[in-house]
Amino acid sequence: MNILVLNCGSSSLKYQLIDMNGENVLAKGICERIGIDGRLKHSPADGDEFVADVALPDHTEAVGAMLDALLDKEHGVISEIGEINAIGHRIVHGGEYFSASVVITEDVKRGIEKCCDIAPLHNPPNLVGIEASEKLMPGIPQVAVFDTAFHQTLPPKAYLYALPYEYYEKYKIRKYGFHGTSHRYVSERAAQFIGKPYDRAKLITCHLGGGASICAVENGKSVDTTMGFTPLEGLVMGTRSGDIDPAVISYLMQKEHISAKDVENILNKKSGVLGLSGVSSDFRDLEAAKDAGNERAKIALEVFFYKVAKSIGEYLVAMNGADAVVFTAGIGENSPLVRREVCRYLAFLGVGVDEARNALRGVETEITTPGSGIRVLVVPTNEELVIARDTLAIVG
Ligand code: AMP
Repeated sequence: MNILVLNCGSSSLKYQLIDMNGENVLAKGICERIGIDGRLKHSPADGDEFVADVALPDHTEAVGAMLDALLDKEHGVISEIGEINAIGHRIVHGGEYFSASVVITEDVKRGIEKCCDIAPLHNPPNLVGIEASEKLMPGIPQVAVFDTAFHQTLPPKAYLYALPYEYYEKYKIRKYGFHGTSHRYVSERAAQFIGKPYDRAKLITCHLGGGASICAVENGKSVDTTMGFTPLEGLVMGTRSGDIDPAVISYLMQKEHISAKDVENILNKKSGVLGLSGVSSDFRDLEAAKDAGNERAKIALEVFFYKVAKSIGEYLVAMNGADAVVFTAGIGENSPLVRREVCRYLAFLGVGVDEARNALRGVETEITTPGSGIRVLVVPTNEELVIARDTLAIVG
């Protein structure tokens, strides 16, 4: 059974073809610069990466280019489209309509469309990816896997904002949460790692990448998370501000003579550790700049560590303790500095870091010293595998 996993963004299409007997990735790749010019990078599991400039005026052409690469005599891994048994799509926003993955039908597409209003950057290209797949791979079942679905178990006290209630009723303004597939995957793995049944474990998962969020997972359910109505709320991120006083928005509009949209753009694209440091949104650059004595890079990192640690503290309160804190995603998996500095705030719980294990890469590991009040783990995430597994479970 081969599952094709698609993640369709506004100008890119990421794909993986996974053989579910053994869960082996047969090939993966990305179509970039869709609607601009077009580039395809394709990596078969047993071969070298193949890069080509291909005209990609739209997403249908991108799906076509991906299929050509998968079927190619030299770099391909299948000989006919029929060898793709099902397609799993990453869909960013499922609103209150979807609390689990579903087979894509006309009704489901309408549901995804209804969420375009609250996810204008993500859901429209997700839908285009579905339609392009229907056109070029007719008859192959398609499944939607939502970033928001795992967080549909949040209780009202966690998801309601203290605004006039009518705005929740009229516009569905509430906390939704994102990175759900990743939080679900790493929390399940972490429960296995510590040898506790998933439905009895309390876990705090820290997905720290370009976008970053933390989730409180209690008895296998998301009970709180830092991202909100949009992926702008919560932690300080690469270019996103995370939480700020909402009054800053109108103040900036007046002072800079700019629109609400302009401020939103600043908060999404020019803030976070990039805005604070003026150096970069990439933690490798920031750590190098700090080591070279750059004061603003140092303070940007400190703001980031502090906010992550405070959010972990909130979830320790929310769940009345935790069995483990888990780090994942680009920064969480690769930065010993971030893990060490966040754990420093947890010293009062008896958390000590084993630096030899904190230096490991790409493996599931515990980084705390024996007897730690809370265990701290690193679990590499694998969102594509979750999408493929859900797709298999649904169409299987
Ligand atoms: P993601 O969004 O999960 O792909 O994470 C991407 C981010 O991970 C990059 O922007 C970097 O900030 C960070 N990252 C990747 N490798 C490293 C590393 N070796 N050390 C620190 N940060 C890293």
